[in-house]
This record gives sequence, structure tokens and C-alpha cells, in this order.
Amino acid sequence: MPQLGRRLRSLRFTLGLAPTGFAASRETGDPALEHALADTATLCGIPRRRVTVYRHPFVARKRPGSCPQCRAKAVDAPSGP
Ligand SMILES: [Zn+2]
Repeated sequence: MPQLGRRLRSLRFTLGLAPTGFAASRETGDPALEHALADTATLCGIPRRRVTVYRHPFVARKRPGSCPQCRAKAVDAPSGP
């Protein structure tokens, strides 16, 4: 049932349980929040040169330490800005 699999993946994105297509990153010098990095900036607008990029993908799950703006934008566009 490929359609059921597609629906489950969509639901996991909507709930923020699936990894997004963005790399996780934290602002250099202020690493309190984890952001979603697109090509040249995070989804909330921090330039790439000001963040440290991590090897794991950004997960849009609501949790402390995760940028709310990046979370909302990553759910809206899970694979690109
Ligand atoms: Zn952010």
C-alpha cells in the first residue's frame, strides 16, 4: 500500500517527527538554539558564516532548544526554502 506509506510520511513531517532536508546548525557564540540551515542562511535569517553546521538533519519537533521560526518554516517546506 504505497499510498498509506506516503500518508504516514506526510503525517510524520506535519508532526515534526521526520528529519527535514535542512542541516542542523547553531549560531556561533550563541549556541542556545538549533536552527535549520538552507543554502546561505538559516530559515530564520542568520547568515551561514555566523553558524556552526552539524552533520545531523534539523528535526522540526517542538522541543526546548529548537528555533520556533525555523521549526515553522521547515514544516511548511520540509525539503527546501
Ligand atoms: Zn532559526
